[in-house]
Amino acid sequence: MKGGNYSSFGTYSGISGSGNVGNGTGKMSLGKSIKMYLTIFILTTCIYMALYQYHISREPFAASEVVKHQEKSSSYIASYLWSPISLLMANSSLNSLNNSTTTSTTTTTTTTAPTTPTTTTTTATVGSVGQKLGASSTSSIRMVSLVATTPSFISPLSESRSELGSLGGHQKTATMKTSTTTTTTTTRTTASGLALATTKLSATTRTTTTAKTSAKLSAATTPTASHMENGHKTRPTFVAASLPPPLYIITPTYRRPEQLAELTRLGYTLKHVVNLLWLVIEDANKTNPLVGHTLDRIGVPYEYMVAPMPEKYKQTKKAKPRGVSNRNRGLEYLREHATEGVLYFADDDNTYDISIFEQMRYINKVAMWPVGLVTKTGVSSPIIQEGKLVGYYDGWIGGRKYPVDMAGFAVSVKFLKERPDAQMPFKPGYEEDGFLRSLAPLDDAEIELLADECRDILTWHTQTKKNAPGQALNRTRYKNTNLEHIDRLLVRP
Ligand code: UDP
Ligand code: MN
Repeated sequence: MKGGNYSSFGTYSGISGSGNVGNGTGKMSLGKSIKMYLTIFILTTCIYMALYQYHISREPFAASEVVKHQEKSSSYIASYLWSPISLLMANSSLNSLNNSTTTSTTTTTTTTAPTTPTTTTTTATVGSVGQKLGASSTSSIRMVSLVATTPSFISPLSESRSELGSLGGHQKTATMKTSTTTTTTTTRTTASGLALATTKLSATTRTTTTAKTSAKLSAATTPTASHMENGHKTRPTFVAASLPPPLYIITPTYRRPEQLAELTRLGYTLKHVVNLLWLVIEDANKTNPLVGHTLDRIGVPYEYMVAPMPEKYKQTKKAKPRGVSNRNRGLEYLREHATEGVLYFADDDNTYDISIFEQMRYINKVAMWPVGLVTKTGVSSPIIQEGKLVGYYDGWIGGRKYPVDMAGFAVSVKFLKERPDAQMPFKPGYEEDGFLRSLAPLDDAEIELLADECRDILTWHTQTKKNAPGQALNRTRYKNTNLEHIDRLLVRP
């Protein structure tokens, strides 16, 4: 529209204008016609310039999109997205954190040397969640990692700047690696780094689009006077955006032939979800570099920890409390590092529709929903009548107060932290029930019912067939072939 007016005016002044003048030359004196020609020329130029000024003033800022941030709640945060300013601020805030940036990194795995064991201990994980890079306590900086780094996790902003120092581990991983900072402790795969960069960039692009739209709208509805006054054509870029409350996904895992396949499948599901930290906790005494490598390749922000099942349960001939020490380790981590958001226990072999994650983010205390089963019962679900929770449907009730499946509930971090003793019991069959009971007091009316008030199935308790470990490779026969490499990628119990 604007361009059309602008060019049609140009056409008029250039062609019709000079044509009229040309026709009149014979009858008029030369002086008069030159004078007239000049007048028209000057007039046209003036109008042209005035229109151009107007056109420029109405242009949306080419390099600066400003969005007014309205803080809806503490869950909503302003974060500076991919912008020169944010990088500047990030670098300066990182500089101020000098020595803390070289503290622990949790999930360090080198792909070049996959046999190097990754050690992740309780203390090593300190400070890995929730990097606070903001210049103030009400904002954080989100950066795009251009070179291989630990995927950065955007955390909420309820903490004060004084806590920055203790969060060194992640500061480093969130640093723009285009800066001169070099790290000697961590080397990450370019592949995972690139994958991360792509994710972050696409997320940023989406936000920027929104910002542009808002900028356009405001430009269209507000007077352009201020823009005219300043006459700045280049403005610093500032893009503010809100992130939804964080999700903490606790995934117990253990060494077996299917392990990497399970984690790969789950990981790529989680990759569709923003502001999520994946706590992968292995029932083992030490981490497995192959797992670390798999997590790196997926590119979801994660912490990889270990929490072995106590020996007495391992030895038993009866049913084992599977994944309990892992989940309790996850809870311990959250008590230490998380301030808000929601936790969810996602076993590595189950199946999840990502829409459940978007629903669970906003819960206040505890939420429940149906879980599809691969048993005769078909489903485990709260029973809802007239909008109220009146009981539970499950193949086995077993005297449980909460006969629900591990995949069928989520808990808010704040609520968990208000219950310092809440944890999962080492009691096979009663893990969910014991944990939920330990959250008391909890009124049934306070349990939020997700998945269309429990009329939909968005998670499934699936099971992968157990397989025998892969046989040893005949090294003589396959010497100097790719099979020597592949063999090192197999998880054998
Ligand atoms: N798990 C574990 N250690 C074990 C067995 C299982 O950490 O010795 C984990 C497993 O990876 C899964 C969760 O605990 O995430 C539940 O285990 P499983 O899927 O075997 O139990 P099921 O779903 O069959 O009840
Ligand atoms: Mn399972």
